[in-house]
Amino acid sequence: MTVMPRPSILSVEPYVGGESKIPGVNRIVKLSSNEGAFGPPPGAIEAIRAMAAEAHRYPDGSGKAIREAIGARFGLDPARIVVGNGSDELLALIILAYGGEGTDIVMSAHGFLMYEITGRWAGCQIIKVPEKNLTTDVDGMLAAVGPRTRLVFLANPNNPTGSILPQSEVDRLRAGLREDILLVLDSAYAEYVTRPDYDAGAKLVDASGNTVMTRTFSKIFGMGGMRLGWAYAPAPIVDVLSRVRGPFNVNAAAMAAGVAALAEKGWIEKSVAHNTEWRAKVTAGLEAAGIKVWPSEGNFLLADFGTAAKAKAADDAMKSRGLIVRAMGGYGLGSCLRISIGTAEECTMVIEALTAFMHG
Ligand SMILES: *Cc1c(COP(=O)(O)O)cnc(C)c1O
Repeated sequence: MTVMPRPSILSVEPYVGGESKIPGVNRIVKLSSNEGAFGPPPGAIEAIRAMAAEAHRYPDGSGKAIREAIGARFGLDPARIVVGNGSDELLALIILAYGGEGTDIVMSAHGFLMYEITGRWAGCQIIKVPEKNLTTDVDGMLAAVGPRTRLVFLANPNNPTGSILPQSEVDRLRAGLREDILLVLDSAYAEYVTRPDYDAGAKLVDASGNTVMTRTFSKIFGMGGMRLGWAYAPAPIVDVLSRVRGPFNVNAAAMAAGVAALAEKGWIEKSVAHNTEWRAKVTAGLEAAGIKVWPSEGNFLLADFGTAAKAKAADDAMKSRGLIVRAMGGYGLGSCLRISIGTAEECTMVIEALTAFMHG
């Protein structure tokens, strides 16, 4: 006899994060985890330093200051915000609270992998719906819903495809789902979106009692290492998440840094302007080199090399120049590489490396 976890746990493929080292290469440019081009906001770095001397104190378990700062910045009621140790934690709490053995999760074929990983942990069956043009197919999602479905996940924009659904399509998805199905809108890249027909999810959360929006400080705010995310939800769902979360699930430095990041003047505007400019420039550069680039609304691009072998060769060519991007085999997109938008210099290195690769 030996100790055994619940059987569904053994079906979990561990999440593989973006690589950060190349043996024998000193100067690394890490463009594998969409961490934002500029590092953390200066005010956030200062806040983390200042918190060091208070490290013996437990954090404020209610997260009052950070919830109020988020509420003020995005025009939301702080009482309807729950903070988490990254939005990954909130996604897990939602799945464990509303899913479990005997229930289904519906997600799109190339949706964010954490839904599947945590869903299996919870014992859910995962239903992946084929996409159209690497974009979520609302009709397909609705057709996949069955009597056991309790959760539907939509990352919008989606990682790793970069594709987006306009508000009208998200509304149509919600309208087609039963009342007892929770729709989770994962808006990790919301701040980067410049399209006018986009809403990050707050409207739908307010209009329905069964929709949750999750957000993160890991992307545009450059604080992935701090682990800070948040959810905006109807009051009964806030109540559930508050029951199951750890009393001190978010650390004090992360919350202080989050407050400071939100107060950093012009940070979002500067980041969006840079991202929009360089996303277009990298797209144009890669297309000029003969590489297909999928349209993206995030701070990353999905470059499609046609075959897995060519994508692997391109990955190797970039690695030899110190450029680390993300291989996409785990997402069923083996012919693609996902490339984060970095600084101007880093983006230029990507264009040069891939142009040389295509010509060589
Ligand atoms: C990065 C990412 C997350 C996770 O963010 P954390 O807040 O760092 O846990 C969630 N969803 C998507 C789609 C992401 O790309």
